Amino acid sequence: MTLIREKLTLPANANKLLLHSCCAPCSGEVMEALQASGIDYTIFFYNPNIHPQKEYLIRKEENIRFAKKHNIPFVDADYDTNNWFERAKGMEKEPERGIRCTMCFDMRFERTALYASENGFSVISSSLGISRWKDMKQINGCGERAVAPYPNMVYWDYNWRKKGGSARMIEISKREQFYQQEYCGCIYSLRDTNKHRKSQGRELIKIGVQYYTP
Ligand code: SF4
Repeated sequence: MTLIREKLTLPANANKLLLHSCCAPCSGEVMEALQASGIDYTIFFYNPNIHPQKEYLIRKEENIRFAKKHNIPFVDADYDTNNWFERAKGMEKEPERGIRCTMCFDMRFERTALYASENGFSVISSSLGISRWKDMKQINGCGERAVAPYPNMVYWDYNWRKKGGSARMIEISKREQFYQQEYCGCIYSLRDTNKHRKSQGRELIKIGVQYYTP
């Protein structure tokens, strides 16, 4: 596929962006689209939802590897799983795209907005919305809520899926041979994905095994 992208510009005449990244496959296309438009940005990796730690470290290292390749600053934020589990209490049985996911996006965006406010960024965005498994409206609502306490901050709700973004995401993942995670991230999504696989007689997820191939 020919990599034709539209020229992007940041909202509110901003000159740099703090991009929350959930993983390398989702942020690969977002990063290359930003670079193709000459936008100055920094990656912010804050994903305390990812379980177990082995999976978290693999996803993070893949993202660091790709950021280094493109010479992009990478902020490695805390893996404060205790806070995540604390906030997820009572939502353990919620389905994907439900209230637990709203909490999960809220938490990640709140930390992104805090870091942005403390480090001179007036625009934040996220790679989360590029996945077709996610509810864009839900994600954007969380992004808007996160910037609300900061009068001069904007959540950029650009739809990274459009104009071939989703297809390029897969193309880049294959080209880079990224680690291919097989569940959303938290312990409950791992449980539910395995439950579904079991019901279909499929093999259960093996952490650290699956990679995209060209
Ligand atoms: S399913 Fe995904 S978005 Fe929802 S709570 Fe778990 S990790 Fe977060």
